[in-house]
Amino acid sequence: MNLTPTLQDCELLDAQDPLRGLRNQFDLPPGVIYLDGNSLGVLPKTAPARVAHAVTHEWGTDLIKSWNTAGWFTLPQRVGDKIARVIGAQPGEVIAADSTSINLFKVLAAALHIAKADHPHKTKIVSERSNFPTDLYIAEALCKERGYTLQLVEADEIAAALQADVAVLMLTHVNYRTGAMHNMQTVTAQAHAQGILTVWDLAHSAGAVPVDLNGSGADFAVGCGYKYLNGGPGAPAFVWVHPQHTDRFWQPLAGWWGHAAPFAFTPDYQPAQGITRYQCGTQPILSLTAIDCGLDAFLAAEALGGMAALRQKSLALTGLFMQLVRTRLHGHGFGIATPVEEALRGSQVSLTRAEGAYAIVQALIARGVIGDFRAGDGGQHADILRFGFTPLYIGYADVWQAAEHLCQVMESGEWQDARFAQKNAVT
Ligand SMILES: *Cc1c(COP(=O)(O)O)cnc(C)c1O
Repeated sequence: MNLTPTLQDCELLDAQDPLRGLRNQFDLPPGVIYLDGNSLGVLPKTAPARVAHAVTHEWGTDLIKSWNTAGWFTLPQRVGDKIARVIGAQPGEVIAADSTSINLFKVLAAALHIAKADHPHKTKIVSERSNFPTDLYIAEALCKERGYTLQLVEADEIAAALQADVAVLMLTHVNYRTGAMHNMQTVTAQAHAQGILTVWDLAHSAGAVPVDLNGSGADFAVGCGYKYLNGGPGAPAFVWVHPQHTDRFWQPLAGWWGHAAPFAFTPDYQPAQGITRYQCGTQPILSLTAIDCGLDAFLAAEALGGMAALRQKSLALTGLFMQLVRTRLHGHGFGIATPVEEALRGSQVSLTRAEGAYAIVQALIARGVIGDFRAGDGGQHADILRFGFTPLYIGYADVWQAAEHLCQVMESGEWQDARFAQKNAVT
């Protein structure tokens, strides 16, 4: 399309979209265009009844029997198996448990341990300066504790930073700020050539872009349950470990749910075989029940081409939004921080603007177009207006309407209203 797409063009694309029916799996509030599924996914229609059943029947009536009768005890593995299908892993390789931050601690600790056994003189973890802060904080704390150095570089400096003294390369596959995506296979091969283990955070990848953990040769991965997987606020995260590493080390949060026989109640720790040892203690069953519903939407998508089809639509949605910004919003001071090249971007579009990014996002939210704001560092990394395009439930006309609202917010100047300048605790 060379001409600026019209609303009618977009409605036609929606009518022809083979994935359009997937939206019916979700409860979307009327009058809202939700472009923040990269931060908190929407409510699957099946979740309220499933969670209510778990509360009133499994907990309320069956009580403690439900660990066995309702399968509570094996839910982390069963949910993990569903996640495995979305990220290119085998059944039994993934467990849904704990949070992304906690899982990152476990796998980084395991990676450092294995690196030390194989290459005792390595002293560094390398990551990206614009990685999500919790990832950097966890790595910094672990480096301090274990006597390693955390080296932070820009994305284009990663290859040069992969030197012989590096033990672990820890990257987030799709950057939370810009939506820029690394080539997992290429970067992993570069790291392995220097004897460096790779830890991938899939927070903005799982359910958003095709991931092939088995095919890429990655060593460790973690990811988030409440973003594109639609698991609900505080949903359990997940962890994957390459089978060649899983049984080499018992991760340091060696709680009883990672024990080979938790109900033997022995005083000494014997790790379970496989990914189960990456669990710590008792898992949040009600939250696991909710994320199980979120994952069913991906199983439904499998019949329609699965992640490959979702990716095709996601690229079309993000491409459309960028085209509309370029053609309809030039002159309003926006830059596009997200790579134009398809292979280099995830499922979001990030705009930059020298001033007013927060207020513009607030003005859009007041109109029912929900994106979010991510603060820059006042230097190389600018303030970001972030829009996530979840192909499970966002359509082409939604994209057009979002761009139309953004035009109106800018042309009317309403974003300059004082009420949009007030910062909330959570942005
Ligand atoms: C969202 C996100 C997290 C969140 O971590 P929590 O432990 O769930 O708070 C971590 N890392 C990245 C890259 C994220 O995008």
